[in-house]
Amino acid sequence: MRASAPNSGLAFFIIAVLGMLLLGGGIYFGVNYAVERVVVADAKDKTQAWIDYFLSAMPDLDELLVNGQLTPAQRSVINAAEKVGDIFRFKVYSADARQILVSDDPNLAGAVQDKEPKHSLEAAAVMTAGTSDIQFHETAKAGTPPAYVEAYVPIIDDGGKTHGVIEVYVDQTHTTSLLRTTFTALALGLAIVVALGFGLLSFAVLLRSRQVKAARKEAEFFALHDPLTGLLNRVGFAERVKAAMDAPAWETAALVGFDIDGFKSLNETHGEAAGDQLLRHMARCLAGPIREREASGRLGGDEFMVLLRNREPEDVRTYVETVLAAVREPITVDGRVISGTLSAGIYMIGPRDEMARALYRTDVALYQAKVDGRNTARQFSAEMESRIASRRALEARLRDAVRNEGLAVYFQPLMDARQRACIGFEALVRLLDGEGGTISPAVFIPVAEDLGLINEIGAWVLREATRVAAGWPENLTVAVNLSVSQFGDGRLVETVREALAESGLPPHRLELEVTESMLIEDPGRVGAQLAELRALGASIAMDDFGSGYSSLGYLWQFGFDKLKIDRAFITALDANEGRAREVLDTIIMLGHKLDMRVTAEGIETERHADVLAELGCDQLQGFLYARPAPATELAAFLMQSYGETGVGRVTGRKAIAG
Ligand code: C2E
Ligand code: CA
Ligand code: CA
Repeated sequence: MRASAPNSGLAFFIIAVLGMLLLGGGIYFGVNYAVERVVVADAKDKTQAWIDYFLSAMPDLDELLVNGQLTPAQRSVINAAEKVGDIFRFKVYSADARQILVSDDPNLAGAVQDKEPKHSLEAAAVMTAGTSDIQFHETAKAGTPPAYVEAYVPIIDDGGKTHGVIEVYVDQTHTTSLLRTTFTALALGLAIVVALGFGLLSFAVLLRSRQVKAARKEAEFFALHDPLTGLLNRVGFAERVKAAMDAPAWETAALVGFDIDGFKSLNETHGEAAGDQLLRHMARCLAGPIREREASGRLGGDEFMVLLRNREPEDVRTYVETVLAAVREPITVDGRVISGTLSAGIYMIGPRDEMARALYRTDVALYQAKVDGRNTARQFSAEMESRIASRRALEARLRDAVRNEGLAVYFQPLMDARQRACIGFEALVRLLDGEGGTISPAVFIPVAEDLGLINEIGAWVLREATRVAAGWPENLTVAVNLSVSQFGDGRLVETVREALAESGLPPHRLELEVTESMLIEDPGRVGAQLAELRALGASIAMDDFGSGYSSLGYLWQFGFDKLKIDRAFITALDANEGRAREVLDTIIMLGHKLDMRVTAEGIETERHADVLAELGCDQLQGFLYARPAPATELAAFLMQSYGETGVGRVTGRKAIAG
């Protein structure tokens, strides 16, 4: 590419020189041709004028042509005629082309006849043709001017008969040089104009070709580079990785994937322009410490990757730590200070690795770094890969389940602590594993949240739970768990209203369970929607109480209808009953003071049930009574629970039919 620039310069120079030579030659021949034409034409006019004068002035020309004898009168005309105009010599030939006289011959008088008469071939030819013959001469011969015209003119009478030929010599030295100077000047002027035009044209052509070349270079650059950061793009980076992996001599190489933590929300908070600045900052930080032969790329969005070569694992980690530390330094964009952190995944490329696998494993390590809390680096391990493979499988199953009815709602009874009778059920969603088993929501709900599927799933659970509950005896309630993401899009209240309307379940039979962590995340938003849900007539329960921060402020502020004590406190009864009792007693008292009913979850033994009933707990839930089960199995449970009293005339079929 680079070598072609001087080559084209040389070619241009050669073309220019050849052009000048050609132009010079053209001017030379053109001027001479033009000069000769004009000089001859001019000489023709002069000759004609002279001949007219000569024929009228010369007495008895016919006789002279016949006998060649000059009379004194004729002699004086000849002497005079020789000096007329630019004529410097003339010769007269008889009708048979013999030379009769030469005007500047010193022996003019009678000299002709003394010698053998000279016969002229030119004169004979002119005689025969009856037309003039004109020749232009430019010579350095002595006795003639440098430039002259020699004209043979036939002497023809009115009857068309030729009597002889006069040969006239016209001195055109002055005319020739004048014409030559003028024409040369003109031609040179023209040449300069042409050369200028040519020069301009070539300059334009040269400029254009430079532009085309620059544009092509630019296009080539952007085919392999990211315009925002100047790093390689996905294609360019993959090329470099492939080259490194295909290198004939094996050397250690590592891939490090980087991803900006929470880039999407940074972009939303500070604007796209600030996001771009942050991307450039990150690019500088990670590309700065790489060496020659190594490569850095932006693979898309906020995803970067570097290829490190010939470095020990220790060196690789040092590099990553340096980058992570460097990016933490805040930058100022439009007067605002912004900062971001990176997560990094490291993969040491093996000697017989395939590129796709190396890239995938780098991604796996990066993914793990994200899962492990971000702003950190993780090196790939095989165990990581299988964990992530099962996560990916779960994601796929979940996506499929949402579309193809792969979810089920199970129900677990809530018992009245005094009567030990069923007063309602908690709806617990299940993901069918395709082999007759189920996957716990504790496993897949967080994944559904990550994938943005939770709203769809939550709405479906609400519809399904209310539909089933609408078929139960009127004294039974249904509790549905909510996820914080469901408060995000502002559609939750509408969804609940629709579920109630669709199923015909009276709102007071619906209970919604939220956790403390949801309130901590976004108290304003969640609180406002809870108030609306309550206004609909549904009751609100605080789930897993005591497992998180347990702020009295939230309990107080939102006025929950129910408190569900976290299972951990009931489990604690087995280890240290005395101490656990005291804590449970306090929680139950607190709940009652704040006008809440209190439920204990995780009741697995009669002992658990007795202690909690004794402490005044209102409701009990746990495996002791029933495990969560499909709607079709609830009838049997209720028959068993109410069998003797005759309450709960519910059939599984009816529950399904809603
Ligand atoms: P949770 O709301 O605390 O639900 C109670 C969990 O404890 C259920 O687990 C239930 O099967 C389990 N459990 C009940 N009794 C006992 C017992 O005696 N011993 C023991 N060891 N466990 C008992 P599950 O069904 O796996 O649900 C786990 C969590 O998933 C739930 O905890 C809830 O937070 C969430 N979840 C369930 N369904 C939904 C749903 O539809 N939407 C949302 N957003 N979350 C749900
Ligand atoms: Ca719950
Ligand atoms: Ca719970």
